[in-house]
Amino acid sequence: MNGRGTALELLRPDSLEAATAALEDGGGSVALAGGTELVPLLRDRIVEADVLVDVRAVVPRGVQGTRIGAATTLGELEVDPQIPRALQDACRLAASPQLRAMGTIGGNLLQATRCWYWRLRYPCWLHGGDRCFARAGQHREHAVLANSPCASAHPSDPAAALLALGAKVRTNRRTVELAELYRLPTDDDRRMTTLEPGELILELDVPAPEASTYLKAMDRRRYAFALVGVAAARFAGATRIALSGMAPIPWLLDGEAALDSATPLPGNAYKLEIARALIRRAVTEVSA
Ligand SMILES: Cc1cc2nc3c(=O)[nH]c(=O)nc-3n(C[C@H](O)[C@H](O)[C@H](O)COP(=O)(O)OP(=O)(O)OC[C@H]3O[C@@H](n4cnc5c(N)ncnc54)[C@H](O)[C@@H]3O)c2cc1C
Ligand code: SF4
Repeated sequence: MNGRGTALELLRPDSLEAATAALEDGGGSVALAGGTELVPLLRDRIVEADVLVDVRAVVPRGVQGTRIGAATTLGELEVDPQIPRALQDACRLAASPQLRAMGTIGGNLLQATRCWYWRLRYPCWLHGGDRCFARAGQHREHAVLANSPCASAHPSDPAAALLALGAKVRTNRRTVELAELYRLPTDDDRRMTTLEPGELILELDVPAPEASTYLKAMDRRRYAFALVGVAAARFAGATRIALSGMAPIPWLLDGEAALDSATPLPGNAYKLEIARALIRRAVTEVSA
């Protein structure tokens, strides 16, 4: 059943064309991969759908050189020797082994915020309302960069690694830099991705760096979202840095000094101290 009390239909298309057509057919269909993110959102009625389109048979899975199929699980990526260290580590430090065995890299990049006000369906700005409850309320885990009007923090560890690695995303419509998959929400358009209805992520192309790493500060040593995640990758002697848990979308940082422009909230300025320490450690690691 969906939130409207009608039966939820499950489609398992056997071609990309059929999957795309099903997803473009009216507003009530949504792509399903491992379901670790989507199913809870359906259960909690944050996402409403009439039709689930299981895309796992039509989205590529596996690693070939620098190419990663979007249906590859985090569990597969963390042990594949072809995968750069930063992405391996980001996958290994994410979620739990069970979730990593089901969750795909495509679904991970498209996961929604963990902001508890949003997950509890408070009528906040991101849900179409006119205020951010986190700013005046509980925001210890929230964003310190680009955090107005929405202070949510992007939860994906692999997204930060892929951003530092300069990954490209191939969809059934276009090929773009990973950064172009994301957008900061505005009053007119509160989406955080640029993915259009019917658009499926098919593949990632991840250049091989000279060295890379991903460091994650979290409340527990295992099974916790990033308070601060720092990815660093060195290409031709230059180091790219990207962050998770620090902004509403995965954030490419132009060096540690760029943190001087952060706008922390009263309860989360501690993140800047952690980020500075992790950035220095990550840069040292990839320079060695
Ligand atoms: C308890 C818990 C802890 C977690 N901890 C972490 C963590 O520490 N770090 C971290 O990075 N992540 C974490 N996650 C997130 C987890 O990694 C994701 O839920 C998972 O990777 C999503 O993949 P999926 O295949 O299950 O996606 P699904 O749930 O199937 O889909 C997620 C979204 O992506 C869309 N989608 C899926 N595949 C495609 C595609 N190919 N093209 C277009 N749209 C697509 C779906 O429509 C849906 O909107 C956690 C999740 C849970 C539940
Ligand atoms: S941080 Fe964003 S998602 Fe959370 S309450 Fe504020 S507007 Fe809503």
